[in-house]
Amino acid sequence: MTTAETTAWLDRFGRRLGELRVSVTDRCNFRCRYCMPKEYFGHNHEFVPRDQILNFEEIVRVVGVLQAAGLSKVRITGGEPLLRHQVSHLISMLKGAANLEIAMTTNGVLLPKHALGLRAAGLDRLTVSLDALDGASFRRITDSPFSPSDVLSGISAAQQAGFESIKVNCVVQRGLNENQILPLVEYFRNTGHSLRFIEYMDTGQTNGWSLADVVTASEILKEIETRYPLEPVARTSESQTAQEYRLIDGSIVIGIVASVSHPFCRGCTRARLTSKGELYTCLFGQNRLDIRALIRSGCSNEQLGSQLRRVWSARDDRYSETRTSGSGSSARQSAPQLIIASRLHRKILTQPQEMSYLGG
Ligand code: SAM
Ligand code: SF4
Ligand code: SF4
Repeated sequence: MTTAETTAWLDRFGRRLGELRVSVTDRCNFRCRYCMPKEYFGHNHEFVPRDQILNFEEIVRVVGVLQAAGLSKVRITGGEPLLRHQVSHLISMLKGAANLEIAMTTNGVLLPKHALGLRAAGLDRLTVSLDALDGASFRRITDSPFSPSDVLSGISAAQQAGFESIKVNCVVQRGLNENQILPLVEYFRNTGHSLRFIEYMDTGQTNGWSLADVVTASEILKEIETRYPLEPVARTSESQTAQEYRLIDGSIVIGIVASVSHPFCRGCTRARLTSKGELYTCLFGQNRLDIRALIRSGCSNEQLGSQLRRVWSARDDRYSETRTSGSGSSARQSAPQLIIASRLHRKILTQPQEMSYLGG
């Protein structure tokens, strides 16, 4: 038996703590309309001051305590994680301190500068977000001075640095980029990379989400199958966020994250740590533990562990499932419930850009 098996913490639905998503910064060099629209994250927005952001030692300490509770994976995210000064150093510290899989989600444009350092530091996996190959669509979505070729250069740099199989994420929004699904499949076939199409989620007060803008998993699949026949790939774990399919010619694996139409709370083993050190047990959760306050008040690892254990053991989050329950699992069938729940979510979400949406 491994240490993780002997000590794993279980929440009220028997879900173990498996993954921690660590936001290392609340800043970003994009202003994606669905995440950090300029109206809210413009010149006047107050980002978290540097001294209030968890430092690397503090992050490593939290991860160490959670590893003893069964944590097996850390995903570094943000904001844009490559904006965090010396983020590669954090990765080598984490790899040195704990035997964990370390992954990162990035918008990719700074990868030409950082890919080699990330690889040398021991980063295991890389996910790059790319919502469109068409320049005009990309600019409309990201509201940034960058272009798809900047992201593609980042992906090439990462590949050259040794990241052979990169996951490319695309959030699909109706009327904005559903026409990019087939070009993305075409582009990434036979590259060794995989694609993940993600249903657009309601993530806070600021993105103006509407159910009508969600392109559902079944619509995404239908679109791909107009040109490329698919076969499902068996799930390897209950905590997997994407249902995977393979093109029958074997040229690429495509994951679909159906957070809205087919929520997957029962397999959710993720906790989230914001850049200023608040731990959340759910993307939509209200309960948070102020880890920074605990650490900076001088608590021991044992005290930190018992606080974290208390929070995980009390966890009964399943917001995405609750909002569709009793109405079937299709987003189209459950519009009123989704809308009511979304209003509720808007009230309770506090830091949308930092919550790394995959899994909500
Ligand atoms: N800046 C990095 C990036 O964009 O990859 C990491 C942080 S970003 C918040 C993490 C992921 O969340 C990205 O793949 C992004 O597309 C996705 N995301 C952001 N807002 C979303 C939304 N409203 N619905 C679904 N996914 C969303
Ligand atoms: Fe930045 Fe990522 Fe949010 Fe886009 S999705 S604004 S790149 S944090
Ligand atoms: Fe996990 Fe999302 Fe369900 Fe919350 S709503 S429990 S983050 S899958």
